[in-house]
Amino acid sequence: MKLIFEKSVPGRRCTILPACDVETAALPESLRRSDKPDLPQLSETDISRHYTELCHQVHGVNCGFYPLGSCTMKYNPRIDEEMAALPGFTNCHPLAPRESLAGMRHVLDTAREYLCEITGMDGMTFQPAAGAHGEFTGVLLIKQYHDARGDKKRTKIIVPDSAHGTNPATAAMCGYEVVNIASGPDGCVDLESLKAALGDDTAGLMLTNPNTVGIFDKNILEITRLVHEAGGLCYYDGANLNAVMGIVRPGDMGFDCIHMNLHKTFATPHGGGGPGAGAVGCKAFLTPYLPHSALAEEEGHIQVRSFMGNFLVVVRALTYLLTLGRQGIPEAAQNAVLNANYLQEKLRGTFQPAYDRICMHEFVLDLSGLKKETGVSALDVAKSLIDEGIHPPTMYFPLIVHEALMLEPTETEGPEVLDQAAEVLRMLYQRAYDDPEAMHDAPHHMPIGRPDEVKAARHPVLRWKRA
Ligand SMILES: *Cc1c(COP(=O)(O)O)cnc(C)c1O
Repeated sequence: MKLIFEKSVPGRRCTILPACDVETAALPESLRRSDKPDLPQLSETDISRHYTELCHQVHGVNCGFYPLGSCTMKYNPRIDEEMAALPGFTNCHPLAPRESLAGMRHVLDTAREYLCEITGMDGMTFQPAAGAHGEFTGVLLIKQYHDARGDKKRTKIIVPDSAHGTNPATAAMCGYEVVNIASGPDGCVDLESLKAALGDDTAGLMLTNPNTVGIFDKNILEITRLVHEAGGLCYYDGANLNAVMGIVRPGDMGFDCIHMNLHKTFATPHGGGGPGAGAVGCKAFLTPYLPHSALAEEEGHIQVRSFMGNFLVVVRALTYLLTLGRQGIPEAAQNAVLNANYLQEKLRGTFQPAYDRICMHEFVLDLSGLKKETGVSALDVAKSLIDEGIHPPTMYFPLIVHEALMLEPTETEGPEVLDQAAEVLRMLYQRAYDDPEAMHDAPHHMPIGRPDEVKAARHPVLRWKRA
């Protein structure tokens, strides 16, 4: 499709500005531009059609099934958007007089109280703008804790190989050496590997739970006990909280700090890349190290983002918590787990689960057998799904499963959608045998087929330049 600049017709307008009713004042010459701004000139119809066309080029939860593993692409209730759009929230300015921000503070305090209750933590910051940013903040808490005790020899963070990819990246960003430990054949942390990795140089452990293969670690209490015994702290990657919220609490499992993705679990649309909120909760002994918020008056704290972070994301999360309540939150988690298991069962006999057992909110299929027999890869299946109106599952991790498809259906899909998705997946499985060639260059009916991913990564063209 054409860019909005290419659709521009000189002189075309759609604005009707009211007559100026205040005295005009000339800008100083030094502040005036010498040429006219290069803005597209269009009618309102042109603009409306342009954005509608753009909107039809993408796939979102409002278009169809979006089982992108580890991303929790659930439907976000409209009431959350309505609350976040209230002018009292959208118009409040972080530098406004403190007295006028009492409502904002109340939202933050209430959301903090509920989320601390859900996670079993004592304090929380909403500053981080994303999950990875929350991890970074959380691991800095761990670092400050050891530093404050003068414990300088703790230079290593242990990360199981079933962790989300951001975990080792975070530990490295915080200046730690990453110690990768293997999972056992059951997809859980191998306790012997953990024991061998622990020592007086262990700063902590980062655990994604349920992990990226959709498994809740059965040894979780033993894991946190061992880490604490070695003098390390335990970090819980809670981006997968959708599987356990309202049912078990990371704080009760022995974790010292956690981040949540409010934009996954607590209803902020996030397919477009933001804004998000990686709320970080911690136990009381770590609260002195939490980032300084502009609303608080303490000095000398780390600050990871300006002001209170993405405040409107917290408004959505609080609305979500209030509408679902004490009963609805655990019910959402149970339905997320039920849906994942339902879909996994529906695919049984055709696709091979990477770990053949009851899963949590997501599961991983292992397509290495299909690839060996037909030459059709997990990528080919993922790309073929696009033509069928289904967003591809996650497939570039977990790293421990080759030819992986990681599906997370979420609780907001009904059984008809899951039945239909299972049917499409089985149909594609059969197509891999009947017509593998057709799958190597799928999708066939989309605006973009297969972009050159290496070129896109090495030589990204991020800005359109007028010819
Ligand atoms: C999504 C996710 C993250 C990272 O969150 P972002 O908001 O994308 O930075 C970290 N860990 C897990 C398990 C995730 O699913």
